[in-house]
Amino acid sequence: QSTSVPEMLEEVADRFSFQMRKKSIRSTVRVEDGIKHVLLDRDQIDQVLDNLVSNAIKYTLDGGRIEIVASRPDPSSIAIRVKDTGIGISRKDLSRIFDRFYRVDKARSRNMGGTGLGLSIAREIVKAHGGTIALDSEPNEGTTVTVTLPALQEGGAAS
Ligand code: ATP
Ligand code: MG
Repeated sequence: QSTSVPEMLEEVADRFSFQMRKKSIRSTVRVEDGIKHVLLDRDQIDQVLDNLVSNAIKYTLDGGRIEIVASRPDPSSIAIRVKDTGIGISRKDLSRIFDRFYRVDKARSRNMGGTGLGLSIAREIVKAHGGTIALDSEPNEGTTVTVTLPALQEGGAAS
């Protein structure tokens, strides 16, 4: 359905504002020029964004930063990037991070809550939409997850 991208991103940030405030994490939302309404399944994409933002909060230390950015890599797709300044993921874990139930450092993440299903569900949803999800991370520097979706801008690519 028709979705306002700026609104969608503001709303995901709002849903987590309490959790971010608790950890003194600052967040910014940025939407590149010209991106307004696109056609996508709002409920499903919200589920993906909620997982990415909750991960970013969970795995970022107090005082960190989270950036949510929408861009248009080409006229018929939209990319949404969730970037954090968190603990990052080592190269050896990166390849398994989308596996069901996979969590880095079981002992640590047990206290953290969660099942290890979030990213695998996110990938299923994104795939079902014909999109891709990519994760880029540097231990102790942070993590960036980029979701790219085919999304036609309402009224054509130029509107
Ligand atoms: P759930 O999403 O089911 O509540 P979860 O967050 O542990 O649990 P996933 O979202 O699938 O599970 O993430 C899998 C694992 O990947 C996490 O347990 C964590 O170790 C690692 N991870 C995910 N996102 C990040 C991130 N932004 N920074 C650092 N590590 C991450
Ligand atoms: Mg998660």
